[in-house]
Amino acid sequence: MQNIGILIETRNAEIKKTNFGVITAARGDGRELYAFSLDSLPEDQKDLLQAYGVHRIVEVQSGNAPIDYNPVSWSQAVIQAVVYFGIDSLLGLAGLQGQNLLPRIAAGLNAPLVMDCSAVDLDGHRVEKSQFSGRTIATLKTEGPYHIYGIRPNAVEATPAAVEADSLSFQVDIKADNLTVKAIKPGDSSSIDLSEADIIISGGRGMGNSENFRILFACAEKIGAAVGASRVAVDEGWVPHTMQVGQTGKTVSPKVYMACGISGSVQHFAGMKTAALIIAVNKDREAAIMKKCDYFVAADLFEVIPALTARLETVFY
Ligand SMILES: Cc1cc2nc3c(=O)[nH]c(=O)nc-3n(C[C@H](O)[C@H](O)[C@H](O)COP(=O)(O)OP(=O)(O)OC[C@H]3O[C@@H](n4cnc5c(N)ncnc54)[C@H](O)[C@@H]3O)c2cc1C
Repeated sequence: MQNIGILIETRNAEIKKTNFGVITAARGDGRELYAFSLDSLPEDQKDLLQAYGVHRIVEVQSGNAPIDYNPVSWSQAVIQAVVYFGIDSLLGLAGLQGQNLLPRIAAGLNAPLVMDCSAVDLDGHRVEKSQFSGRTIATLKTEGPYHIYGIRPNAVEATPAAVEADSLSFQVDIKADNLTVKAIKPGDSSSIDLSEADIIISGGRGMGNSENFRILFACAEKIGAAVGASRVAVDEGWVPHTMQVGQTGKTVSPKVYMACGISGSVQHFAGMKTAALIIAVNKDREAAIMKKCDYFVAADLFEVIPALTARLETVFY
């Protein structure tokens, strides 16, 4: 029996839906799936874990209570759980939290780590990830008693496969003297996490200024989309860096990615090329993105987006 751990991420007491793709990637014959959560999970969330094939739901706690967020104490807690339950491979999301925790866990276990994997073969300990701004796909083999993999959110489509799960609490003993978390400032809880979003509408230099981004937000709101940006829009100070998509921003794999006033540089593509459907709105027919998308609208975005928003209004309301 191969024990596989999945580090579960939650937001507002709900499991982020991209976790279910990670669970799907982890399933296989002869495997026991352990979901490790550092937050308390309500019963309906545990039911979801069972529905996707988790055999053991482990709430990792200290003194019978959730452990306050601190990357040192959280990673120590997960390391103890990995060792105790004899976990062979630990999988987590390669999002912001995963980028903070998974390397600490790998370092603590002296284990190999591969981040941003798009596919995993847990029998052979082989993973795939894109390299050189998405120009090549590397297959990497890891060796050792433990293997830590960060999975690109939405890289694997979630499919249910219900099993009966045990639910237990695992008590850990932690010391996090060398790092103190002084304050946690949550982002706008009403906005949709880019890496979780099924639909993303992004704006680039063509937006012209910060104020103009409101037309993207208005459109996004109609269809439950998240709003992203190119690096130029971020560097100009029009939107925060948390919205940047690309090589030095977020990597996203939504069902639909709509790029507005974005030329389609390799660095931008590195972050969104795995989107299932790419739509470009650009007034320059020769822009690189027009050749790399599924559909394009060769027009001024300031005409197209408000017209689309108005049309969506009549469709959905
Ligand atoms: C090491 C490195 C890392 C980088 N990382 C990133 C990254 O993570 N993400 C990223 O995005 N970039 C990144 N870049 C920058 C990248 O090379 C490009 O400069 C950037 O992506 C261009 O942004 P843009 O497409 O918004 O702007 P531009 O390339 O200037 O394109 C603007 C487009 O808007 C169109 N347009 C203008 N007005 C309108 C209008 N009214 N209606 C419709 N279309 C209009 C134009 O035709 C044009 O095609 C990186 C660069 C380097 C060197």
